[in-house]
Amino acid sequence: MAKEVAGWFHRPAFWLRSDEMKTEIAINPIACDGHGICAELLPELIELDEWGFPILKSRNLPPALLDHARRAERLCPTLAVIIREY
Ligand code: SF4
Repeated sequence: MAKEVAGWFHRPAFWLRSDEMKTEIAINPIACDGHGICAELLPELIELDEWGFPILKSRNLPPALLDHARRAERLCPTLAVIIREY
């Protein structure tokens, strides 16, 4: 048991070099109401289907798009845009 706990601390995210950090974007389809703001703010990664709901082109979020993605996350009225860094 102690070994598993130690393994969990083996390499926490804050020890990773910035070029090893991985950032992903996701959309919670349950929360999304199809306002489309995210696709306007991040057209490089999000497009809308025929009903106005977002489709992710890729979950991987390149560093160059992080600011735009954070803005989409902040402005989504239903908090359906999720960004994870690890
Ligand atoms: S802004 Fe939010 S609610 Fe609107 S389409 Fe995008 S994820 Fe859905």
